[in-house]
Amino acid sequence: MYACLWMHDIGCVPLGDWVSPPFEGRGVGEGPWLIFPEKISALILFFARFALTLQRMMENLEGEKHRQGRIEVICGSMFSGKTEELIRRLKRAKFARQRVEIFKPAIDTRYSDEDVVSHDQNSIQSTPIDSSSAILLLGADIDVVGIDEAQFFDNGLVDVCNQLANSGVRVIVAGLDMDFQGRPFGPIPGLLAVADEVTKVHAICVRCGALAYVSHRLVRDSRRVMLGEKMEYEPLCRDCYQKALEQERALAKDK
Ligand code: ZN
Repeated sequence: MYACLWMHDIGCVPLGDWVSPPFEGRGVGEGPWLIFPEKISALILFFARFALTLQRMMENLEGEKHRQGRIEVICGSMFSGKTEELIRRLKRAKFARQRVEIFKPAIDTRYSDEDVVSHDQNSIQSTPIDSSSAILLLGADIDVVGIDEAQFFDNGLVDVCNQLANSGVRVIVAGLDMDFQGRPFGPIPGLLAVADEVTKVHAICVRCGALAYVSHRLVRDSRRVMLGEKMEYEPLCRDCYQKALEQERALAKDK
């Protein structure tokens, strides 16, 4: 019945309607279907959407069934949704009853000591650690390892992730690809090189609305690691970032 109504929605009628006046009581779906030419585009659109939905379903199934070790890196500037994407993948794995462990650098205590928390307060429980080598000790007998704020870890993280993936673990790493000066950050470049899959996410430039690529520091502090939030950093596109640097240089000259 629904299929019949749906066929009507996209512009198809039973051939009986075409060759003779419809009469009450006849089933909507009876007879061969005739498609009005002007409705063909709606039909093509429907099948395109159906194919896309099917493809996404297959991808989801593949993601959860595919238990071979691999490294996935989610990188981008601040406020680009890295942690949200990490949490989404980890929660999905948990839902599939996979054994999941999440680690974050002990240095990052902006929101919670033991939770990985995104800017929109979505959270998942994690273990704070000081060194990447602790992941190998604490990550035995698990299916999926999540690592947040990976840029703050030592460069040994690349080898740790490789070892885990080689032993069949799915490793999902999220981190800033660049520091506030636009330089590749910590172990992220090395992780990008060895990753099986890289997802670069983007914030929106707060000055022009284009896709942002870097986290511009709003306060004067030359330390590479300075934990902060919206008061301290803003996502900027390449053009606006260059303009901001020029303004800062001009201001410094005037002083
Ligand atoms: Zn911009």
